[in-house]
Amino acid sequence: MLPRPATLSQLREAVASGAVRRRTVRDEIRENLIARLRAKHTLFPGIIGYDETVVPQIVNAVLSRHNFILLGLRGQAKSRILRALAELLDEAIPVVPGCEIHDDPLGPICSACRARVRLEGDGLPIAWLPREARYVEKLATPDVTIADMIGDLDPIKAARANLQLSDELTMHYGLLPRANRGIFAINELPDLAGKIQVGLFNILQEGDVQIKGYPVRLPLDVLLVFSANPEDYTARGKIITPLKDRIGSEIRTHYPASREDAMAITAQEAWVSRTGQDAVAIEVPDFVREVVEEVAFQARQDSKIDKRSGVSQRLPISLLENAVSNAERRALLAGETVVVPRVTDVYAALPAITGKFELEYEGELRGADNVAREIIRAAVGNVFSGRLTGADLRQVTEWFDLGGSLQAHDALAAHELVARTAQVQGLRDLANQAGIRPDAPAPVLAAAIDFVLEGLYAQKKISRSDEGRFHGAEPPRRPPRPSPEPVPDSDVPMGAGKKKYYN
Ligand SMILES: [Zn+2]
Repeated sequence: MLPRPATLSQLREAVASGAVRRRTVRDEIRENLIARLRAKHTLFPGIIGYDETVVPQIVNAVLSRHNFILLGLRGQAKSRILRALAELLDEAIPVVPGCEIHDDPLGPICSACRARVRLEGDGLPIAWLPREARYVEKLATPDVTIADMIGDLDPIKAARANLQLSDELTMHYGLLPRANRGIFAINELPDLAGKIQVGLFNILQEGDVQIKGYPVRLPLDVLLVFSANPEDYTARGKIITPLKDRIGSEIRTHYPASREDAMAITAQEAWVSRTGQDAVAIEVPDFVREVVEEVAFQARQDSKIDKRSGVSQRLPISLLENAVSNAERRALLAGETVVVPRVTDVYAALPAITGKFELEYEGELRGADNVAREIIRAAVGNVFSGRLTGADLRQVTEWFDLGGSLQAHDALAAHELVARTAQVQGLRDLANQAGIRPDAPAPVLAAAIDFVLEGLYAQKKISRSDEGRFHGAEPPRRPPRPSPEPVPDSDVPMGAGKKKYYN
């Protein structure tokens, strides 16, 4: 590659010879996208599950040179997609050094740069702005002001300048002008005050804007991209119509359509392979990964959870991380060298879930912890029936129905859990059918046993107390003579005098 032009005259020559392209941001992104499409490069590395839906629409928007908006619930990779657009910019562009709005040396729009060009002429030095510096992002909130977004000017200087062109004034630039010749992303657009939306529209439409009553000319070259929650965006009065009109494409994002896609995303994002000095080996069984993912799917369709705000993909990511940590804690205490999370660890990871959804009224009444536990239980039941389709569960359930019971908990070392459950005929077989290799070490076997017990509990084939004691689904058949000892028969602690109607 030739050395980059360092002065205005060199730049002019380079542009004339075609060595340096001079084009608008939208043309630049469009042409770079075309080159990538031709070369069959991945357009958005790390974005999973959007190849047939969202990505083609983004490509069309870019090819159309549209400003566009991504409409979707939280945790649908909207910000990540917008940030990835910066990869479609040139590696660097020539700018007037020190200019806050990254003026093009061959056509500066600010008066200071125009004065420099007049003064320094062909010898004007050129700076090169890297693509990372050309992406500006702002989370819209109701308290964002015109000064933050567009800029501010000193009213005294403005008054002195009187009828002169307002670009001669000393302007303090806001975020949008600072994104000149780049991409400006505004997240949660509907939260932006109407007045600022009008300002944005004016800049898009006319290249000027009024600040404190003074017209300011700002013919910016910016690709504007936005994100919003779909309901907020379509709600009447949230977005001023002329701005909506100027947004070329509305693109809907979505949660992963399949559990496989979702698991791939979580596997990519979750911090599971613990590194560091005292790191231990981590092995996450597939059925645990499936349960974690199914929790998000169940939560998204649960009537107790607010659908308008959604359930982010960050839920399964945090959940998996926290479940692994619970397993890591157990392994450290038990002196185990392999960390294998269990379904029980998913329950223990409740703190990673409860903050990630908004409850409907019915859910509020139940309480976030109870709602989360019920969702995990439904997820376990779903994964269990998928993995053990057609398996004969009777031998194990009969053992419990005949009065057998087992105490387990998430702190139980693997060998201890395996030993305690050895007496339950058929349990080991089911654990193997859950999908573990024959030579699996104790922590893996323990996780499979735990999965089977939790699966049977989720399907209400056996019961489990909050303290982790498993027993028969039905109250144990009482021997003919009254038993001297009371048999625990409730999986939900009930207040005195309340009837048990849980199962
Ligand atoms: Zn300038």
